[in-house]
Amino acid sequence: MAQNGSQSYNGSSESVETRLFINGEFQPASGGKTFSLVNPFTRESVAEVSEASEEDTNKAVAAAKAAFPAWRDLSPSDRGAYLHKMAALIREHNDEFARLESLSTGKPVSMYIDAGAAAETFSYFAEAGWTVQGTSSLNTPGHLGLLVKQPFGVVACIIPWNVPLAFFAFKIAPALAAGNTIVLKSSEKAPLTSTLAARLIEKVGFPPGVVNVISGFGTPAGSTLASHMDVRCLSFTGSSVTGQKIQTAAAASNMKVVHLELGGKSPALIFDDADLESAAQQTQFSVQFLSGQTCMANSRIYVQESVAEKFLALFKEKFAAASLGNPLEKTTSHGPQVDELQYERVKSYLAIGEKDGKLSMGGDAKDGLFIRPTVFENVPEDSRIVKEEVFGPVVVINTFKTEAEAIEKANATEFGLYASVFTKDLDRAVRASKLLEAGTVGVNCTSPSKLNDLPFGGYKMSGIGREGYMHSLDAFLETKTIVIRASS
Ligand code: NAD
Repeated sequence: MAQNGSQSYNGSSESVETRLFINGEFQPASGGKTFSLVNPFTRESVAEVSEASEEDTNKAVAAAKAAFPAWRDLSPSDRGAYLHKMAALIREHNDEFARLESLSTGKPVSMYIDAGAAAETFSYFAEAGWTVQGTSSLNTPGHLGLLVKQPFGVVACIIPWNVPLAFFAFKIAPALAAGNTIVLKSSEKAPLTSTLAARLIEKVGFPPGVVNVISGFGTPAGSTLASHMDVRCLSFTGSSVTGQKIQTAAAASNMKVVHLELGGKSPALIFDDADLESAAQQTQFSVQFLSGQTCMANSRIYVQESVAEKFLALFKEKFAAASLGNPLEKTTSHGPQVDELQYERVKSYLAIGEKDGKLSMGGDAKDGLFIRPTVFENVPEDSRIVKEEVFGPVVVINTFKTEAEAIEKANATEFGLYASVFTKDLDRAVRASKLLEAGTVGVNCTSPSKLNDLPFGGYKMSGIGREGYMHSLDAFLETKTIVIRASS
């Protein structure tokens, strides 16, 4: 297998791009360094991927900086034309993206929604550039005031591995529409959909340097971006621990604007008047989807005591129906955890759950890196499995007596990404929506349901800033006041 460049992967005759994309050219890492990507299902090598050094990262930022003035000065329609082409190419390559993600992360192809979401995002922002406008003021005598919105310059984007192509689009499409240029660093666990997307950037014909895509680790590539003096805005999705490091590095360097989309420990409250069948179906899917590896999974469920037995029976029956197997087969709905590290991490939480509470279904499948859909009951609220993000198909189901108790338990966390409430009582739904400390509250629905045109993001340690169509566009723009003195 070649060390760098297009190489065959996973024993197939197909080839995959594995190099860095800087200033419009694919290139190996400066020292020729690579890292191995391993298929979590077969445990075989998928590819050797170029690992960006500090020098490569600086080169990518310099290319983005040089490309900025010309890109900024294009009209929104001219920028949008590139984004339209990108949307079309992503749609064409849907199956290739699905296969690459499956080989790299174990994501079942049957659950692959990333390319559809990415294409829709590029299509939306292809048209959205014209909506960037300010306001004006004649309120101060002798002056005309203008508020204008302008791009930052170089925007760095750092993405996680669980839904990488969607995050690639959620970040770079609005940032480009706003007139910024980009350096994106993919996750070391899922670089290949970003390198394929870089191939499509090349095919679209974006001017060199407008979009640079690098593969590599948190250190040195990610940390170099976080502390870079020429990066004016950094948009990050990943864990809260990494978010803290990025915010610290940003503050210590040039105080770049930082958007943080971080982890969660999302509660779902099931009241005695809820449609239990629907609540069970939705809440089990939330925590089973992508083998529990989603930020907004409702990994804590609080059910009212009087209906707990009935809800648990329905929940477990549906949760157990997940079909574990080869992620490339269409009948598989539940893949392995993304890698050995993540599998071991989930197992360490299973041990905590067994010590502190009652394992009532599932556990380690003892078959490769698979964890079965797992339920713990009667776990004390201060247990680490109730407080910390597991990022696996593991849910704690506890009970409550009163509405006040349910809300208090739901809010007793440092996270605040998503919360949901299942009830037919409208007054209660409104009270709970107001009191739950979360960026999104679902009423009779839960994650992964979210609305593209409304903001998504976290309270507390789940993040800073919001993403979602117009909110994303605004997040990639600076605000300037122009004061014009004019005698009347
Ligand atoms: P992670 O924090 O380990 O890594 C995310 C990215 O940050 C990777 O590209 C990684 O290389 C990079 N990174 C690591 N250390 C860095 C550093 N010091 N400086 C700069 N970059 C660094 O997270 P992950 O394991 O890839 O993803 C899972 C996490 O992401 C979970 O906590 C999940 O909840 C969260 N997530 C949040 C959202 C959201 O929208 N809020 C969405 C998806 C995932």
